[in-house]
Amino acid sequence: MAQWVYAFGSKQTDGNASLRNLLGGKGANLAEMASIGLPVPPGLTITTEVCTHYYDNDHAFPPELKGQVEAALHQVEEQIGAVFGDSDNPLLVSVRSGARVSMPGMMDTVLNLGLNDETIKGLEYRSCDPRFAWDSYRRFIQMYGDVVLGVDHHNFEDVLDTHKRRNGYAQDTEISATEWQEIVTEYKQIVKDETGRAFPQDPHEQLWGAIEAVFKSWQIPRAVTYRKLNDIPHDWGTAVNVQAMVFGNMGEDCATGVAFTRDPSTGKNIFYGEYLINAQGEDVVAGIRTPNPIEDMKQTMPEVYEQLNTVRHTLEGHYRDMQDIEFTVQQGTLYMLQTRSGKRTAAAALKIAVDMVSEGMITRQEAVMRVDPASLDQLLHPTLDPKAQKLILTRGLPASPGAATGAIAFTADDAENRANAGESVILCRTETSPEDIHGMHAAAGILTSRGGMTSHAAVVARGMGRACVAGAGEIVIDSATQQLSVNGKTHGPGDTLTIDGGTGEVMEGAVPTIKPQLSGDFATVMDWADGLRRMRVRTNAETPQDTKTARDFGAQGIGLCRTEHMFFEADRIQKVREMIFATTETGRREALSAIEPMQRGDFEEIFEVMDGLPVTIRLLDPPLHEFLPHDEADIVDFARVAGIEEKQVRLRLAQLHESNPMLGHRGCRLGIAYPEIPEMQARAIFEAAANAQKRGLTVLPEVMVPLVSTRQELENTKAIIEDQARDVQERTGETLTYMIGTMIELPRAALRADEIAKAAEFFSFGTNDLTQTALGISRDDAGMFLPDYVDQGIFEKDPFVSIDEAGVGELVKIAVQRGRETRADIKLGICGEHGGDPASIAFCEKAGLDYISCSPYRVPIARLAAAQAAIQAGTANNLDLEEAA
Ligand code: PEP
Ligand code: MG
Repeated sequence: MAQWVYAFGSKQTDGNASLRNLLGGKGANLAEMASIGLPVPPGLTITTEVCTHYYDNDHAFPPELKGQVEAALHQVEEQIGAVFGDSDNPLLVSVRSGARVSMPGMMDTVLNLGLNDETIKGLEYRSCDPRFAWDSYRRFIQMYGDVVLGVDHHNFEDVLDTHKRRNGYAQDTEISATEWQEIVTEYKQIVKDETGRAFPQDPHEQLWGAIEAVFKSWQIPRAVTYRKLNDIPHDWGTAVNVQAMVFGNMGEDCATGVAFTRDPSTGKNIFYGEYLINAQGEDVVAGIRTPNPIEDMKQTMPEVYEQLNTVRHTLEGHYRDMQDIEFTVQQGTLYMLQTRSGKRTAAAALKIAVDMVSEGMITRQEAVMRVDPASLDQLLHPTLDPKAQKLILTRGLPASPGAATGAIAFTADDAENRANAGESVILCRTETSPEDIHGMHAAAGILTSRGGMTSHAAVVARGMGRACVAGAGEIVIDSATQQLSVNGKTHGPGDTLTIDGGTGEVMEGAVPTIKPQLSGDFATVMDWADGLRRMRVRTNAETPQDTKTARDFGAQGIGLCRTEHMFFEADRIQKVREMIFATTETGRREALSAIEPMQRGDFEEIFEVMDGLPVTIRLLDPPLHEFLPHDEADIVDFARVAGIEEKQVRLRLAQLHESNPMLGHRGCRLGIAYPEIPEMQARAIFEAAANAQKRGLTVLPEVMVPLVSTRQELENTKAIIEDQARDVQERTGETLTYMIGTMIELPRAALRADEIAKAAEFFSFGTNDLTQTALGISRDDAGMFLPDYVDQGIFEKDPFVSIDEAGVGELVKIAVQRGRETRADIKLGICGEHGGDPASIAFCEKAGLDYISCSPYRVPIARLAAAQAAIQAGTANNLDLEEAA
């Protein structure tokens, strides 16, 4: 016979913590606590399988369920020495939901179930406290009425308020037993009026009503929404826990509280929590009275405190992790009501992990597994000083973490000028575009009034590690008058603003910030992660400053230097435009020769920062139109400086128009049409390398050709690159160590990887384009419909954020296998946005890539995620053995 019900208590415990899927988190941990001898009020857990059965069978319970619940309830009665429904000595129970993961939004708790007009007499008699008994009864009717019978709680609160007002009471505690009794009568009447039926008096009917209400609450809209937002499958179902009541509100020797076995915000190894004397659990949460710090219990209840402190150590020792606990003290006796792994800040997670290793409680591998890589983001950026005063003007989306204070700049140029003059700047735009890059780079923070979490501003800011608040819709930015207005206030250029990209707050004036602390526990965990991981971690960077940041964060080289990003600065873009507008090779060469020294200089600086580490430089990739002047003023300006007739400029613009630039004249196609471009870039790379090498630096350039789909495309460009390498080495007398390879970012390239590997010494998976082309979803337009796909569950996750393993991942695997067939030692990496996403990093580990590359501020996240991926895949270096040796 199927087991639908699991008992827990001192007499018999069927379950344990490993049965979380079946018993839910709460039920599994109650069973575990009972089985290690902790004082848990006895009870029973109805499994999550019953929930699934209920929904699969038209809201019917399995036929054996009733008998199993009754048998388990009988055992509870025996342990407590009370009888469910008995008027002399009634057993009262709580009924709670409990899914596999804690899930706010589900059914609230029902306490004191089993009370009725008869059993109340028993409770009155046994507690010797009629006031307590009638208060319990009214609480029960209110909770049950609200949660199970659907009677809105304000009905009950109105009665209570009127009663207090009429009698001039400020507190519930002033209400006498007889008055509570009258209120109970009124409450029952409310239930009758609202539901058309009397309040159920049969305890068994009450119990089954509550059980069914828990299962029904699995499908209420807010629970469904919560699951969607948190990727919790709908078919998991919830368990139901029925547990003997213990009372924290029976007098001064009673209490209830919540605690953490260590401080969840700092991680310090101190007992951290709160309790209330003479109160029920809901009173602590409701905040009606201010709870006392747990330390005070040493004075008020010394024996219970000692016992609780012992439980704290027992639980930590047993679970080998920081726990979040709930307890009740009934007439001097301690009862444990819940334990679970405690939520903690990133700083606390690091400290606890490191401390537990030195306490010998966990291994370094386990410590590394304990820290959520994504949470490290909290630590990498400046944050607002929590003690500081702040005047919030409005809120937008928390698009890129970190806090920044600076002077308002309305244009990228103004931002850059101010930054050059030593000011900290907040770039304020309605929205940003690629032309603003230099201003975004110069700014400490970026604020936009339009756009979402994946708008240009948000994506670029996250990549650069700039604080960003996007889509602050209450702000009106008028770039013509250079004014920013929000809620009746107006600010001009140079005025000071503070933004918090972690919360979305926009504040007036300067709010002090605190610098990130990357030493101590952070460094220790990172060291361990580095020892464990197999894949190397590089960065996507193209400025010396970003490169430096990344190296400080532990990057082991550059995986992608997008050279086009080096062209957007004002003096350079003019020359790039002149090159594009030139109609002859000579014209183009002229413009390119002006750009070349700048490129060479940049590369040399980057080589210097990355001394001793490989640097992958990608030849010019983006659609040409991204460089073209778009608005009127820009066109006029460009024509004037270039000395070209405006008419000519417009004509050329029309010629260069592309319907679908992302799939148009970009990538290696540029160099096929204009070989002088890769020629100039290759020369700049190798000359920079030779210069750097002369200065004693170790330079390892890797020249990368983008958007290749055939071997011949690569061969063409490769020939140009090799010519330059040969030439530069001859001219300078320096022997260079370099590689030539390609991006794999088109499906055909993945499929023909065996052919392409004949010409490529390395592959770098450009999963941004590979996702775009494999799914046929334009990267730039996806924002319009992709959220619907995720909402409706058509895509589990945004494939541009987390790799689509089944499709794009398959192409990667094919390319890995075919590439290695041709060239066993081919170097394999990833440089799409996925390189900084922990789930995608786990995929890269399984696919056997050699390295991952991500934006500078993601490097620590990637280092940790790569270690976790290796541990999970069983490919980690054996750090703990080394430690033992
Ligand atoms: C990619 O396509 O994944 C890539 C890294 O290149 P980009 O984003 O510059 O197209
Ligand atoms: Mg690409």
